[in-house]
Order: sequence, then C-alpha cells, then structure tokens
Amino acid sequence: MKIAVPKEIAAGETRVALTPATVKQILRDGHEVFIEAGAGEGASISDEKFTAAGARIVKGAERLYESGEAVFKVRTPLQQGGVDEAGLIKKDGVYVGFLSPFSTKETVKRFLERNITSYSMEYVPRITRAQSMDALSSMATVAGYKAVLIAADRMQKMFPLMMTAAGTISPATVLILGAGVAGLQAIATAKRLGAKVEAFDPRPAVREQVKSLGATFIEMELPEDAETAGGYAKELSPEFIKKEMEAIGSRLPKADVVISTAQVFGKKAPLLITGEMVKLMPAGSVIIDLAAEQGGNCELTVAGKVVEQHGVSIIGAVNLPAMVPTDASQMYGKNIVNLFQYLYKKDTDGPDITDDIPKGCCITRGGEIVNESFKAAFTAGGK
Ligand code: NAD
Repeated sequence: MKIAVPKEIAAGETRVALTPATVKQILRDGHEVFIEAGAGEGASISDEKFTAAGARIVKGAERLYESGEAVFKVRTPLQQGGVDEAGLIKKDGVYVGFLSPFSTKETVKRFLERNITSYSMEYVPRITRAQSMDALSSMATVAGYKAVLIAADRMQKMFPLMMTAAGTISPATVLILGAGVAGLQAIATAKRLGAKVEAFDPRPAVREQVKSLGATFIEMELPEDAETAGGYAKELSPEFIKKEMEAIGSRLPKADVVISTAQVFGKKAPLLITGEMVKLMPAGSVIIDLAAEQGGNCELTVAGKVVEQHGVSIIGAVNLPAMVPTDASQMYGKNIVNLFQYLYKKDTDGPDITDDIPKGCCITRGGEIVNESFKAAFTAGGK
C-alpha cells in the first residue's frame, strides 16, 4: 500500500506518525511511504533522514494526501488554516491514528460518506497480544515521566536527599494519585530522582505494583466493586471519594509535589483535591494534573494553564508527549506500524474482521460504523 504521513497541524503538536526507524520497519513489507516535507521538524527529524530511510518527501498537504491510499496520523483530522484533513483523505482510503470518535462525529460522518476505513488508536483493545500496538499506554508512559520533570523544574526544593558540608537537605515528598500507566511511570521517575513517594489507586492489583517500585501505598479499605471485569477502574461512590479525600488531605501538608492521574474511562475525572485542600500544601509546592482535559482531579485546575493559588502552582497538563517528541514519535510510530502490520498481513486480503483487535479499533468500514460501542452512541446522538 502507499502510505502518506502528513505534518500535524494541531496547535503545539510536535509529534509525527512515523520516524525513520519505523519507516524502515513498514517498508520491509513492500509498502511505499510518502512524508510531507517538514513533517518531522517538531521532532528534530529532517526530510533527509526520512529520505535516507527510504521514504519519499512530498511538498504540500494536498499532494501528500493524494499520494497515499492509507494515511497515518497522530491527531484526529482537523479543519483549520485552509486545510481540511478529513476531506483530503482519499475516497475508499484507510485512516490510522488517534480519532477521538465521540468528540469528532463530523469527521466520522465524512468517513462514512467517503467510504474510508478508519482505525482509532484509542480503541486498540488493551489485551496482552495488542500491547505492542497500545499507543495510549506509550503516551501515558511519556506523560508520567515528563510530569515529574516539570514538577522538579517548577518546585522550589530539590528531589533527592543530600548530605553536604552545608547541611542535610531532606528529600522531596511526592504524592501520586491514580497509579495506572502514567502514575506508575511517574512513581518510577520520582524514585529515580530520589524523592519519597506515596501513591493511591482504588484497583486492588495496583498495591503490589506501587510497592514493587519502592513507593508507599496509601492503605485504605477498598470498595469491593472498584474495577470492571477487565481490570479498569469504575466510578466510585461519593462516600468512598469522601474518605479518599480525607486520606489525601492528611498527606497534603507534607507533599511538595502531587501528580494526579485519576480517571475513569468515559467519565469526568473524579474531584480529589478541592481549592480549600490546596491551602494545606506547603508554599512553593506543585500539583501536576494529568486529568486536566477530563475536568481535572483538582478543583483549581485549568487545562493548558498554570494557576498559582495559596502559594501552590497547579499545572493543567495537556499533551505532555508533545514535549518529548522524538521518543514519543518513535513509540507512537512503533505502535501504529505494529497495528498496521497486524491488520494488513503480507499476502492476505486484509484484516480478519472477526479478530478482537480490528473489532475493537475499526470505527468505519464499507460506509458503516462497525465499532459496536461507538455505533450505539453515534446513533443515539443522531446521525
Ligand atoms: P487511566 O489513565 O484511565 O486512569 C488512571 C488511573 O486512575 C487508573 O489506574 C485508575 O484506577 C485510577 N483511578 C480511578 N479513580 C481513581 C480515584 N478515585 N482515585 C485514585 N485513582 C483513581 O488508566 P490507564 O493507565 O490508561 O489504564 C489502567 C488500566 O488499563 C489498568 O487496568 C491496566 O492494567 C490496564 N492496561 C492494560 C494493558 C494491556 O493489558 N495491554 C495496557 C495498559 C493498561
């Protein structure tokens, strides 16, 4: 297949859907790759590096989209600055990338009209055999890492214990709320920097994962129905959240950094830190709210902004992977190529639509919505 990789046009987006290494990986299957001139600029990947890897550089979005039967993207197609990305994808073509179908129903409609087969990276099922295609986990890993570095840079203390001739500096205390992929990576990064780390997550399996990283798990009586059969967090009762907030409140006076990542799929993020609770934190401390775009775990969070209140910086973190674009693009590129190679195996007619992986992440095919959970929501909202 001919694969086109455009330059991302979303504001602040620095990632690119393929890197030279992942171009080489996909070329081995006999595909051709076309990259828009300058697509790798944000991630410090020059056109020459892409050419050396075997890709062809195409100038301008229109010509680029014309060159590919399949389009690999990072962000969902946008219509801005005179470019209409969904409209440029070839009729009967293939789209692979983040799609956020629930918030981009218009794009989905256009995919249906133009018979585009689309795969949404958010919907790759989180099962063992799809781990190498799981871009949500890759990007959460980068975000958890970067969140700690931003906190370290912003706070007015140092992370590690230091015993110096000028006296002893005590280590920073970091509190992690939600220990999924991002939270666990934040724990690991904060530990590497020498902080004292405490964490909480309502899913029972997480306790051991937190401890194995050398952090303290905040013990609480966990509700019996904290997670779904698939191991994902469920929305918790207001009574439990109240108890959790008390436990958090008791730790805030000593927390130099809070990294909050608590989320429940498809719901607003739970509110765990009120404005009043922020007052409990030491002056100069930092909250990095990775749930900012889902409403935030802290009441004072504003997505994409730094709010200073009561001497505390509250950072509404948005798209942290774009701050580490070289490695984030490499990981994303690997995920997208692994998915594509799995779907379009050499010498086959295309995806086996009875398989759980395409069943989960294929949103549109043959002019119809084929993802069952999205179909119900799309139809309920009216086509
Ligand atoms: P996420 O980003 O949706 O949520 C972050 C964390 O917030 C979760 O760990 C959740 O339990 C936690 N949370 C929810 N309510 C909370 C509350 N009130 N207080 C504190 N924390 C709260 O999660 P994620 O990192 O994308 O995924 C986590 C789940 O996905 C886990 O079950 C994990 O094992 C699973 N997973 C599986 C695979 C795989 O098998 N391929 C890959 C990645 C993740």
